[in-house]
Amino acid sequence: MTTQKLVVIGNGMAPGRALERLLEKAPDTYEITIFNAEPRVNYDRIMLSPVLSGEKSYKDILIHDDAWYAEHGLTLKKGCKATSIDREKKQVTGADGSVVDYDKLLIATGSSPFIIPIPGKDLDGVLTYRDLDDVEAMLEAAKSGGSAVVIGGGLLGLEAAAGLKERGMDVTVLHLMPTLMERQLDTAAGYLLERAIEARGIKVRTGANTHEIIGEDRVEGVRLDDGTELPADIVVMAVGIRPNGDLARDAGLEVNRGIVVDDAMQTSDPDILAVGECVEHRGTAYGLVAPLYEMAAVVADRLQDGSATYTGSVTSTRLKVTGIDLFSAGDFAEGKDREEIVLRDAANGVYKRLVIQEDKLIGIVLYGDTKDGAWFFQLMREGASIEEMRETLIFGQNYAGGSPLDPTAAVAALPDDAEICGCNGVCKSKIVGAITEHGLTSLDEVRARTKASASCGSCTGLVEQLMAFTLGDGFVPDAVQPMCGCTDLSHDDVRRLIVAKELKSIPAAMQELEWRTSCGCAKCRPALNFYLVADWPGEYEDDYQSRYINERVHANIQKDGTYSVVPRMWGGMTSSQELRAIADVVDKFGIPSVKVTGGQRIDLLGVPKENLPAVWADLNAAGMVSGHAYAKGLRTVKTCVGTDWCRFGTQDSTGLGVKIEKMMWGSWTPHKVKMAVSGCPRNCAEATCKDIGVICVDSGYELHVGGAAGMHIKGTEVMCSVETEAEALEYCAAVVQLYREQGRYLERIYKWMDRVGLDAIREQVVEDEAKRTALFEKFLYSQRFAQKDPWAERVAGKDAHEFAPMNRIAMREAAE
Ligand SMILES: Cc1cc2nc3c(=O)[nH]c(=O)nc-3n(C[C@H](O)[C@H](O)[C@H](O)COP(=O)(O)OP(=O)(O)OC[C@H]3O[C@@H](n4cnc5c(N)ncnc54)[C@H](O)[C@@H]3O)c2cc1C
Ligand code: SF4
Ligand code: SF4
Repeated sequence: MTTQKLVVIGNGMAPGRALERLLEKAPDTYEITIFNAEPRVNYDRIMLSPVLSGEKSYKDILIHDDAWYAEHGLTLKKGCKATSIDREKKQVTGADGSVVDYDKLLIATGSSPFIIPIPGKDLDGVLTYRDLDDVEAMLEAAKSGGSAVVIGGGLLGLEAAAGLKERGMDVTVLHLMPTLMERQLDTAAGYLLERAIEARGIKVRTGANTHEIIGEDRVEGVRLDDGTELPADIVVMAVGIRPNGDLARDAGLEVNRGIVVDDAMQTSDPDILAVGECVEHRGTAYGLVAPLYEMAAVVADRLQDGSATYTGSVTSTRLKVTGIDLFSAGDFAEGKDREEIVLRDAANGVYKRLVIQEDKLIGIVLYGDTKDGAWFFQLMREGASIEEMRETLIFGQNYAGGSPLDPTAAVAALPDDAEICGCNGVCKSKIVGAITEHGLTSLDEVRARTKASASCGSCTGLVEQLMAFTLGDGFVPDAVQPMCGCTDLSHDDVRRLIVAKELKSIPAAMQELEWRTSCGCAKCRPALNFYLVADWPGEYEDDYQSRYINERVHANIQKDGTYSVVPRMWGGMTSSQELRAIADVVDKFGIPSVKVTGGQRIDLLGVPKENLPAVWADLNAAGMVSGHAYAKGLRTVKTCVGTDWCRFGTQDSTGLGVKIEKMMWGSWTPHKVKMAVSGCPRNCAEATCKDIGVICVDSGYELHVGGAAGMHIKGTEVMCSVETEAEALEYCAAVVQLYREQGRYLERIYKWMDRVGLDAIREQVVEDEAKRTALFEKFLYSQRFAQKDPWAERVAGKDAHEFAPMNRIAMREAAE
């Protein structure tokens, strides 16, 4: 056989593997020349992170040393970039001026880091993370300590951050999206990852958009879109990669995102093949080694005139940061025709999620326990039916096909000294002993006697299993109404645990409370969102995606899909200027109906969604803000004219109503809150059927709670009487705050009152002065963060995508 000439451009892992395979099978087929822009041999690029962190050295990660090239008679042109390809003459020219002929050419130019085009990107100290030179630059910078900002919370960014931290730098990771590695992980695993990264002392800022890199000659810091400035001695950009296709494009080959190849790994020129990250195969450009190695095998075969084909790869991801175990593969987006199996172990930081479609595994996310990753991945790649093993699938290969776990048997198997309640240090034998010795049959009795599950309560399930194991049929569990199908916990337990465990995000609550679903459902998400808003003012960022449509768009959807707009009219008062502005808006936007509401304000009906921001802008310009007519929050404070105009008026009911409304607007509550202030017992403002009503009397103010005039009609009950306007304001705020803390989501005030009893409310708001003051102060504190006009925010561009013209929203979603 005559020896042909093979030229390889690029000397990364993909062509390295292809050459290995070729030389194994047909060592003498080609005279081989390799152009390598890097001044070195082939090394394991994926092990750069252990080199950065100090766990390995460059020598440890070599794939082919100099001797290997010599032994196989290969010519490696180190540090010599190929600058052009002449397809006519079948020649490649190198940066050193050398020209090499080829019969077959293999392009393997890999990819380059993407640089965000922001001011300061070219400053000294702005680094990327791709090759050994980058690692050496980072190590040099880390010698003098200082601060590093890593832009990008994906695989590479996090590995760079962990390495730099290990080398003694103060590291902050900036990530544009709300959770880390969002392309590989769902929000639940993203939360655990963020927690683990932060536990290493690395700061993480999600939702952070880098505006510019600041500095004179070299990097001094980074400025974010929101104006925050972070000091930095180096900035590492790890925001993605771009396949290197320029050389191929200049040679006239077909290049889209990457160099286009067919199933034979052949480019648009039959004598030129391509392999690795630089290629695009069936529309996909890969960025992981496993698919590149599959391609390399095909390339090696084709270079020996074989007929192997590459048909695409299913990939999986792992993070190489010591102590962080994560695995993900496939498609784990939610979908109507998909089911999921979720297992969470809060104590051990474990989260596992399998996504199933038509009895086949299509997505895998594992965090904290990844030992079954390879097995799940194999099931997914094979498209195996999981029907028979569905019950035990999530527990992994060891349990495959076995019977479902019996929790009572599991608890029976625990040793006597196994700790059941971590908060109070109570072990199994103590609980079992107390149950048998004192004849305890209820959870409350066990709690009272042993303190097990009496603090944070997260071991309640375990204690109940222990009771079931000890009492057998004699154990009747307390009937708890779970919040929804995603959890066994009641609203009250969830609420209590959010505070006790300081859970400050929805993913944190779901993981630590061991939710059975990955992202919750339409019942629990809005409830969790409210509890977090109410419990952590100023710390929790409202998750507007967890709100119903009306609260998402700050208007009420109507039966024809248009919206109604209700500006706030403080205490039902308006002015000629406001009325004129409303009239102008109606004319300008052709609003078909204008109606006075039962809450003493004006409703503009029939506004298309895309017009909402413009309508709000005009109303804002006239000094009007949202009336929150759509909110689980304060709606209206209806008033009568009181002493201002009425002969019977005993107090300034209008003035008090306005003051209450100005104090309370914007507050989120478990359900809507309607209020009213009447100037005398004739009660023209109908205060006795409101959630909270004030009846002015000669001696002061009668405060009423718990009325309703919707599907249920209920008169209020008198909570107390106070003498001054200031007291009336304080008591009203205190009772609303108590309702915010104790009310279950979607429970109106009157229902909450029926449940806890008016006496309990009186005890806390009226009789306990210290508690009332604390409630009042907490309410005012939370209002500092709540009183932002949502219309003005959206006029300024917030959530702009919500108001883009779109298809009609399904009416089911519209129904609240
Ligand atoms: C820090 C880091 C960690 C990673 N971790 C993982 C991981 O955990 N798992 C995983 O699967 N993947 C990982 N990857 C990705 C993986 O390393 C790549 O997918 C793989 O190395 C790509 O191989 P390649 O041969 O296609 O390209 P490359 O390895 O990029 O090699 C291309 C080579 O061609 C050279 N070159 C470019 N143009 C020319 C030219 N005109 N002339 C001559 N030479 C040229 C380049 O200098 C480069 O040396 C990681 C990557 C990095 C950077
Ligand atoms: S409630 Fe009393 S004060 Fe108010 S308008 Fe009616 S009669 Fe007048
Ligand atoms: S009373 Fe019924 S029909 Fe009238 S606005 Fe309310 S929900 Fe709609």
